[in-house]
Amino acid sequence: MAERIFTVDDLTGVRSVCGCLACNLSAVFAEHLTALRTGYPGAVTTLGHRGPSPGTTAVPHFLAVRLDSGTADVVVWEEMRRHQLTAWLPAADARARVPQLAARIPRLVRIRQAIRTGTFAPSGAAGEALSAGGRYPSFRFLVEHWPTLNKEFTS
Ligand SMILES: [Zn+2]
Repeated sequence: MAERIFTVDDLTGVRSVCGCLACNLSAVFAEHLTALRTGYPGAVTTLGHRGPSPGTTAVPHFLAVRLDSGTADVVVWEEMRRHQLTAWLPAADARARVPQLAARIPRLVRIRQAIRTGTFAPSGAAGEALSAGGRYPSFRFLVEHWPTLNKEFTS
């Protein structure tokens, strides 16, 4: 499945906790995730302006938004309980990397944008997943293919 590109029109009629742009985008993205996911236990919970509750993990998602000047990445944070994180990311080694990568948003955005513009083409399993497997550089993709992607991306 190709990555969904959101536009500001997607925000029409959206209601969120505080109504700011970030929360409205979070609400739209939560609806998108809910429609997309199969076998995910419980509801999608975005963080808005609060920190994660004890015992949960803050997971960033990159949301591509089309603007007149091009495509911008917006970060939306989701809070996952342990069993939700396991359902979403079954590989234990990738799961262990989530907090580390969540602290490296600027580098992840640079890698994502380089893949989008074609200036970075990952090799191996990551490259195959992008070209043939219908994957796109979501946070889950980045965390699954780390640290290989990080080593290959030298700029
Ligand atoms: Zn807000």
